[in-house]
Amino acid sequence: MEVREPIPDDLKRKVRQQCGFGCVICGSPIYDYDHIEEYATVQKHTFENLVLLCPTCHRKKTNGLITKDTVRTARENPSSQFRTSSDNLPIQPYSLNIGGNVINTINGLVFNICEFGWMVIRFSNYPLIYAEILDENGERAVEIRENNYTLCARTWDIEYVGKILTFRNGPRKIFASLMFDIENRSISVSGNIKLSNDVRIKIQDNGIYADDQLLAHGNQFLDCGAAIIITDQPVMGPYLFSGRLIGNIMFQNAGIAGLNSIECKDNHFFRCQIGFVWTKEFLSNLNNS
Ligand SMILES: [Zn+2]
Repeated sequence: MEVREPIPDDLKRKVRQQCGFGCVICGSPIYDYDHIEEYATVQKHTFENLVLLCPTCHRKKTNGLITKDTVRTARENPSSQFRTSSDNLPIQPYSLNIGGNVINTINGLVFNICEFGWMVIRFSNYPLIYAEILDENGERAVEIRENNYTLCARTWDIEYVGKILTFRNGPRKIFASLMFDIENRSISVSGNIKLSNDVRIKIQDNGIYADDQLLAHGNQFLDCGAAIIITDQPVMGPYLFSGRLIGNIMFQNAGIAGLNSIECKDNHFFRCQIGFVWTKEFLSNLNNS
């Protein structure tokens, strides 16, 4: 087992800036630090030899489908769309679209789903992604800290194609995906998650569903912390509403907007800490009724 010194933080920062905060080949916002000439050969970390690559491009380089020269050229002119002319620009809010619900946020808790993990996207001049995703045995499968990924399970993969970041467990099983629209400062989230109680959570353009039951669609959140939380713990609140809620109601200033809501459509929420919380028990009963 080779012993290697960690890459110093200030060197990592310089590499991120050089590479435009993304994979130099395809622009993926999720990356790892790669040595163009292998570390085993050079035995040191130098600025010129370090580059950001996503899992897909890293694998292509390892397999010889992308040459070291191609990587070096891309490093000089990276394709990342997150590059900004200055680090001192004012932070502009992004919107997150989760199942047709639009949440305007700077610090977005995207989801926290029991058994499956959590994801947070913070926004500075570009999206900063943090996540921890578990496999079916509850072991950590993917870890992301400030866009720097670690794949802990062989069956898991992260791909970036056509500005869509996809998390997969197994060859065809898509767990979640994020679509980046940097120009319009918007990120769309979709997902397909099966809980251990056999309830299937679907996050798609036309809503958030538990099996075929619509939970929420078309709601607008302004100045809110974004979230879908599914928990196996009891929830005390405070919350604004629970159950069925259709149409054009304006709510403000709450901890949780909706607890165990169904068919929650086209409402407006202002300054709520959390969008939607569902308990696993509630979803399980929905399935059986
Ligand atoms: Zn890439």
